[in-house]
Amino acid sequence: MTQDRTNPGPLVRAHQTGGRGTVRIPYATQIRTTRLVSRTEVTPHMLRLTLAGPEIRVLHSYACDDHVGVVFPLDDGTRNDPTYNPERLMLDWVAPAPQMRKYTIRRHDPVAGELDLDIVVHPGGLASDWATAAQPGDEVVLAGPPGALAFPHTYGHYVFAIDTTALPALARWLDEAEWIEPRGVTVQVLVDHDHLAETAYPLCERPGVDVTWLSRAGGSRLADAVAELDLGDRDAADVFLFAAGEAGGIKPLRRWAKGLGVASLVTGYWKRGAVEVDHEDEGHADDEHDEHEE
Ligand SMILES: Cc1cc2nc3c(=O)[nH]c(=O)nc-3n(C[C@H](O)[C@H](O)[C@H](O)COP(=O)(O)OP(=O)(O)OC[C@H]3O[C@@H](n4cnc5c(N)ncnc54)[C@H](O)[C@@H]3O)c2cc1C
Repeated sequence: MTQDRTNPGPLVRAHQTGGRGTVRIPYATQIRTTRLVSRTEVTPHMLRLTLAGPEIRVLHSYACDDHVGVVFPLDDGTRNDPTYNPERLMLDWVAPAPQMRKYTIRRHDPVAGELDLDIVVHPGGLASDWATAAQPGDEVVLAGPPGALAFPHTYGHYVFAIDTTALPALARWLDEAEWIEPRGVTVQVLVDHDHLAETAYPLCERPGVDVTWLSRAGGSRLADAVAELDLGDRDAADVFLFAAGEAGGIKPLRRWAKGLGVASLVTGYWKRGAVEVDHEDEGHADDEHDEHEE
């Protein structure tokens, strides 16, 4: 597939409507200065920050877990943001590189020039602490989105095995999934969570979608719960797995998908006990996708 970073929308749409498996489609990666226009407590553990600015009007975002990086000032409060390289259509980072944290574009409104980030609030996180203190009017610098890991609408059954950090991706996918009902597509969703209140996160209700919340209090049961799923008499080639969340919890799912021959997109969104340090610009920090052609 031709990779046109300047016009990736048609490539993503073509894969979504007619492709199989997961493909990486790069976007021209920009750096943007935006403003926080509102903050909402979606649940007591999830903050929604709405960011606005003219540069958001021309942002590419076509896939449910497209993400941006929130770029932070250096420790001394000065900024050393990356710059856009028009030849590479990517960002150049110069040492000392600023810290950055990745968040899914939960909603993108190109007409209003707005996007929403839904941020899990947890103890001791740079981005989490920043989101908790952020106020309307604050300037927010965004890198990306760097591209899509696009998976298609051509499967008969989808399994989403996630934790709460991937609820924004699931929610966006469900918002845009008006195609599942006419085609009789079914969806099993399993969500690892730490607090009962997180189960109030709003998800678009659609026929054929079954959501199960799993408490992570005694450790993640996500992989076991997926292994115990009854896929009925479905052909594995007609099943797609989207897995994202804490790296340790979702790692076994790669084996599950490979073992069954299920196409997948499996991404470690964060690692327990590890601070996010990755500055790569080409997709997700720790992702793997498998394509199993029919
Ligand atoms: C493609 C992609 C999309 C993502 N989308 C979202 C999103 O939409 N919403 C979202 O909330 N997160 C999302 N994440 C995850 C988010 O980037 C990480 O959780 C990130 O580490 C949070 O940064 P922090 O500065 O708050 O914590 P860090 O400074 O990176 O980490 C500090 C400590 O907190 C722990 N920690 C990190 N995240 C969590 C957590 N969620 N719960 C409990 N402990 C944690 C770490 O293990 C570490 O010990 C996404 C990640 C990727 C790769």
